[in-house]
Amino acid sequence: MKIFDVHVHVGDKFAWKEEAFSYLMSLGKRYEKRLYDDAGNQIDSELHNIMVEEEISHAIILPEYAPKIACLHPVERILKVSEKYDEFIPFGALNPHLHNPVKEFERQLALGIKGIKLHPVHCEHYVNDSALYPVYDRCSNLNIPVMLHAGTSIFTGSRMRYADPYTYDDVAADFPDLTIILSHGGRSFWHQQAEFMVRRHKNVYIDVCGLPPKNLPKLFPSMGRFPEKFLFGTDFPGVPGIRANAEAIYRLDISSEAKSLICYENAARLFL
Ligand SMILES: [Zn+2]
Repeated sequence: MKIFDVHVHVGDKFAWKEEAFSYLMSLGKRYEKRLYDDAGNQIDSELHNIMVEEEISHAIILPEYAPKIACLHPVERILKVSEKYDEFIPFGALNPHLHNPVKEFERQLALGIKGIKLHPVHCEHYVNDSALYPVYDRCSNLNIPVMLHAGTSIFTGSRMRYADPYTYDDVAADFPDLTIILSHGGRSFWHQQAEFMVRRHKNVYIDVCGLPPKNLPKLFPSMGRFPEKFLFGTDFPGVPGIRANAEAIYRLDISSEAKSLICYENAARLFL
């Protein structure tokens, strides 16, 4: 069983807002003790050890610039990890309230990011904000994937309006060649729209992170018919076990080919 986790958060404990950190750790209890030192620094060698122990072959690591609602995990912090360990693929992140999106994208691109993540709900913007269109255009031309947090958030200050599925569909329709990953597949109230989007748009995928694997066939009834459009992700460290989640996908009533596409092959094709 090969596993590629497309959704791993990297950052020091003190860079999380307390509410967000304690929620993640309520899920990832077993990782908390070993992942941070007494000063709250993430111990990168321990992150790597966890990947080795659980036999995760690759992981996308994510920064986030959302100090008001969740965390401030700069791209430089995650690059420290990917520079040391080849299994980790660094993505960038943008917050249009804190950055000039085009300039910041180019800066991070020069630093070596392989994709970009946007979190409209924690950063309080719409994904179809015109300020982001030049970035999408650039990503589309360079074949750089864009990961969009797609769904609500329970953290204080989050607004549902920024998770409006029709704004995501705008981006997919306006940039048909852009690879778009819908993280959480519309969590809370628009799984059906997310599934429709991956069927309608050739380059749109769902990353199943943060969703209990056993619920997937109910949330996405077409998953078994379109397994090439789903990606395994966990939202680590907010998960009881990376490998345990992949094993739960292997227990679903879908073909063995579908299981290996979802857990590894699709991500390898897109990101390696
Ligand atoms: Zn996440």
